[in-house]
Amino acid sequence: DVIVVGSANLDTTLRVCRVPAPGETLLASGSSVTPGGKGANQAVAAAAAGGKVHFIGALGRDSAGETMRESLRSHGVDISGTHLLQAPTGTATVIVDDSGENLIVVNPGANALLSIEHVDEVLAEIEAPVVLCQLEVPLETVRAAAEQNPGRTFVLNPAPMMSADRLASVLLLTDILVPNQSELAQLTGREVPTTLDEVTDCVNGLEYRGAVVVTLGALGAAVFQTVDGAATHVPAPIVNTVDTSGAGDVFCGVLAYGLSQGSDLVTATRRAVALAAESTTFHGAQMSSRNPV
Ligand code: ADP
Repeated sequence: DVIVVGSANLDTTLRVCRVPAPGETLLASGSSVTPGGKGANQAVAAAAAGGKVHFIGALGRDSAGETMRESLRSHGVDISGTHLLQAPTGTATVIVDDSGENLIVVNPGANALLSIEHVDEVLAEIEAPVVLCQLEVPLETVRAAAEQNPGRTFVLNPAPMMSADRLASVLLLTDILVPNQSELAQLTGREVPTTLDEVTDCVNGLEYRGAVVVTLGALGAAVFQTVDGAATHVPAPIVNTVDTSGAGDVFCGVLAYGLSQGSDLVTATRRAVALAAESTTFHGAQMSSRNPV
């Protein structure tokens, strides 16, 4: 089993010919409403990979919350640990133009209210070897999830990134850190590393004691068993990429699932790289259940 503690949002995407200027009104050429939020996306990816997944998050008692619950359930995710609150379900409104330029406004809503007490209570009742978190819910709640972990592997995807100082107490409790290149840059205060050597330099400079898996987009991922060790490069297959949004979430979900099955870090990373690459060949942030895995 895998426990995912994190965010759930209902995303609305509006397609426009160009991103509007402040004060301007534009007509959209189309729109779509899709389930999102890094937590929900990662939970769905882990479930689609074959895992039994428990999602711990917070939703509003509104239609968006109902849609999110339906979506998670339809992907086989256990939502009995999801808290229903008197707050709006989190939303993201995305405005995207023909060239791919975008504008995004996130309203965290219920996600911002996911409490330490709720997470403690649910975690105490679920047996699972792996807990996966991101940073779209309060940091204190993430820390609580990391603390409630006797014998569990705590995997942290530090997204969206915050300063390494604020994250320090959570990093102390993290077993496997999974940043992308820009998150790694922010963690180390350096420029975005592009080559494997630069990535290795950054990781070697981290003030952290666990393992690190850095996602490298089309280059795949680099696995570091320890921060002062060498990288094992896991290349991505060449695929016909149409949309990379959510690829990092698929990666994290599949990685956590592999670890929960007892795979070693490199083996779990291989599968995560393969399925994340596959997810870039269709549109949408959540892994489709139609996608054979
Ligand atoms: P994020 O979505 O967080 O920015 P990355 O861009 O590093 O994360 O992508 C995560 C994973 O998705 C990569 O490790 C890789 O497996 C896969 N991926 C992303 N972009 C591509 C691509 N263009 N071709 C193949 N695989 C990709």
